[in-house]
Amino acid sequence: MIKAAWEGVTLLRVKSTLTGGAWNPPGYMGKIIEFPDYNSGNGLWHGDQWTKNIIAEELGHSWDIRGDLFGGWNGGHISQAMIPYIGASTRDCAGLIYLCWNYQPGQEAPVNNHHASLNPVEDWGGAFAQFVEPLPAQNLGPLREQYIKIQIALLVTEIK
Ligand SMILES: [Zn+2]
Repeated sequence: MIKAAWEGVTLLRVKSTLTGGAWNPPGYMGKIIEFPDYNSGNGLWHGDQWTKNIIAEELGHSWDIRGDLFGGWNGGHISQAMIPYIGASTRDCAGLIYLCWNYQPGQEAPVNNHHASLNPVEDWGGAFAQFVEPLPAQNLGPLREQYIKIQIALLVTEIK
């Protein structure tokens, strides 16, 4: 699974990023993930569960946007397909999924960490991070968990 989803992906430790936090910069098709020395989300990196959760989230974004030149700013293939699966709606987003301020995440709540309720890209990233490196007091709903398992199964099919 790791080879199929993240082959050729480089994790970079950098001084700072444009967003202040860890991210997949646009233009690299999900092949570069940058982790700034100081992370605006929660200060410095400690190798704790929070750090692992952030790394898992960025790996989730990378998988989602791989091959996408714009770096998933308008939603990668996995987060796009998750929208109807979880009954979410982006109809008020004017086609700009990542900048969707009226995202309706569906009946089941997205995970409560970071900014998962902002748009489908972060909804997927937060759900995947919670699946792989769960944070306490966060809840991954059964619909999103099932969707992640389907994506992993599809990946296994892809390898064959
Ligand atoms: Zn994210």
